[in-house]
Amino acid sequence: MIKFLRRNKGMNCDEIMEVLQGYLDGVVDEETAREVASHLSDCAICAPEATLYSRIKDSLSAKQLSVDPEVLAGLHTFGERVAKGEFETDS
Ligand SMILES: [Zn+2]
Repeated sequence: MIKFLRRNKGMNCDEIMEVLQGYLDGVVDEETAREVASHLSDCAICAPEATLYSRIKDSLSAKQLSVDPEVLAGLHTFGERVAKGEFETDS
């Protein structure tokens, strides 16, 4: 397995993942925040994770209630199929 990480002092990816949510929520202490920030600027694994988390967080906090029409259509189709009994479970 390829190592993306430079071996600098500080946290490894597992540790970053553990505190990432807290970091984005701004509830970690300053030193941890610094470690996470420097790790994220350097890590090809954690950086996209962090971006994804913050996007989810942003869209939640923006209270975006609009739903992708395609998703909605998919749900509708699914509902019809359920109504037709296509998904009856074995009893
Ligand atoms: Zn990482």
